[in-house]
Amino acid sequence: MSSRQFELRQNTTIVCCPKCGNNTKFTAHSQRACEDSCDIWVVCQCGYDPTQDNTLNRLEDTWGGLDNGILHDALTYAWNEVIQEGLDNEP
Ligand SMILES: [Zn+2]
Repeated sequence: MSSRQFELRQNTTIVCCPKCGNNTKFTAHSQRACEDSCDIWVVCQCGYDPTQDNTLNRLEDTWGGLDNGILHDALTYAWNEVIQEGLDNEP
């Protein structure tokens, strides 16, 4: 498993963390899920991981590298979408 800390510029595209309100400082993680695929996801600076309960929400990637393109996709699909879906499901 590898990880990479990164910091974004101020933005309005990344959903704020429901725990601490941060949307710029994250750590990306990459972990081999099966022989030819890795799971990639991002964790907030406070430790909040929206994919913790359902790792199917994590991004799948053949190589598991953590370059900027992958970080962008991980933020879109394994952070933004997961949190927004969670909010929609709240009663
Ligand atoms: Zn947070």
